[in-house]
Amino acid sequence: MTELTLIPAKDTGTAIPAEPFIGQHLIDGVWTDSADGAGFDRNSPAHGDLISRSAKGGVAETEAAITAARRVFDLGDWAFSSGQARAKILLKMADLIDENRDHIALIETLESGKPITQAKAEIEGAADLWRYAAALARTLHGDSHNSLGADMLGVVLKAPIGVVSIICPWNFPFLIVSQKLPFALAAGCTAVVKPSELTPSTTVILGQLLQQAGLPAGVVNIVLGHGDPVGAVMSTHDAVDMVSFTGSTAIGRQIVKAAGDTLKKVSLELGGKNPQVVFPDADIEAAADAITFGVYFNAGECCNSGSRIIVHEDIAEALTAKIVALSRQVPFGDPLNPATQVGAIISSDHQARIDGYVKDARAEGARVVLGGDRLSISSLTGAFYQPTVIADVTANMAIAKEEVFGPVLSVLTFRDPGEALALANDAAYGLSAGVWSRNVHTCLDFARRVQAGTVWTNTWMDGFAELPFGGVKQSGQGRELGRYGLEEFLEVKTVQMRVNRGRDPWVKTR
Ligand code: NAD
Repeated sequence: MTELTLIPAKDTGTAIPAEPFIGQHLIDGVWTDSADGAGFDRNSPAHGDLISRSAKGGVAETEAAITAARRVFDLGDWAFSSGQARAKILLKMADLIDENRDHIALIETLESGKPITQAKAEIEGAADLWRYAAALARTLHGDSHNSLGADMLGVVLKAPIGVVSIICPWNFPFLIVSQKLPFALAAGCTAVVKPSELTPSTTVILGQLLQQAGLPAGVVNIVLGHGDPVGAVMSTHDAVDMVSFTGSTAIGRQIVKAAGDTLKKVSLELGGKNPQVVFPDADIEAAADAITFGVYFNAGECCNSGSRIIVHEDIAEALTAKIVALSRQVPFGDPLNPATQVGAIISSDHQARIDGYVKDARAEGARVVLGGDRLSISSLTGAFYQPTVIADVTANMAIAKEEVFGPVLSVLTFRDPGEALALANDAAYGLSAGVWSRNVHTCLDFARRVQAGTVWTNTWMDGFAELPFGGVKQSGQGRELGRYGLEEFLEVKTVQMRVNRGRDPWVKTR
């Protein structure tokens, strides 16, 4: 594998902190350890060094956090605060995130293994979401009905849904919590937040910044720890009104069942097996670059990973060759080095899972054109995986249907547009999809027919605060971002008002 571009651990200019980051729970405005003193550690998946020591929440801490969020919501001070007041705090948060970008990004990189430049961009993107949510807080309104008759006025209020449990994954820890929390706060909700046990610390920093921004105690509570028991209690407790979850489809399914007993609203952002269809008239250079970005960004540990391409058979060899050539030039290596574009895999267990998919595909007859194994990078002890391109993949193989969550691209081929669409839709997932063609009709027809929450035409993985994001099929339910992202956290309440006496009496008095 000497022909790859590898970045060893040296000359990064950024030191790993000598002392680990200490994380506590934030419950009702107070930072606290667990009552039983339990804790857990996180080591850098790239370097092996101890990065953080966190309190490990149990049932008691989770219930205390939910109780605080419930009490503060029911008190009404926050829920009935003006949009202006809430926006002021959200805007202050955005500024504080910007001011603390480098500190947050460093911890994010060290816990997740992602490149430092990407972590910085992610923190900047998160600040933008807090700003956007502030705008929504100012413009939130319902409807009025002035055409119900002379004696009746109808008002549709948008009210905060209540206490929201926010459960997040490890792949974009700071960004994903920022796709949820500022929108929930803009709506007037209170929240309990649980980051992944693999990346807890930047959510703790978020809590510290919320306090600096002047958020009242108990509006946002943070509990660190594992899915069982913290996430499980957050999904079942009867004082919680809604669960907003991002993570795997398997856990999403469990959450729907757990939340069913109390009929909580559940919004889910889950996995994907996102296809890009490349027609023969596409701009092949642009497609090859975007496909390379789409599969290696965040080491493929991305719900939007463009992990399978469906290419017209006439151009499949040429396009695959271009992708392989580009793949060799993508710098894999030390996440602390600003030159690195792909960092470490989140854990050695996950590295083994990725490798299992590749080995199974090979055994089933697929052709590994590039990579296909673990990657060693000099002076780094952590888990890395080679950029991997697999051709001759057929629709029945697990690698064509299941989320690999690694830097692994599957190449399938098609003969006619109907076959391309059928292959694209042949997955339980429906998060995102892409189409490459110079013919606008080809693109529009595909965009309308493909089963996905987001479709990119002649591009891949752009995202905007203004545009809603979410999946269909087993990729989720509900939407984040845009105005829809706020609506998720709002309940509709109808108020019907009699104007004057109006109606004939129901009881006909003599
Ligand atoms: P995961 O499902 O293993 O864990 C997500 C969170 O759920 C973690 O905080 C975990 O502690 C918690 N959890 C675990 N068991 C639980 C339970 N029984 N009840 C409640 N909470 C529980 O996912 P992950 O490995 O952290 O993240 C990777 C997955 O997330 C991938 O499938 C990826 O596609 C998905 N994802 C989706 C989006 C999206 O927007 N659609 C974005 C990012 C990640």
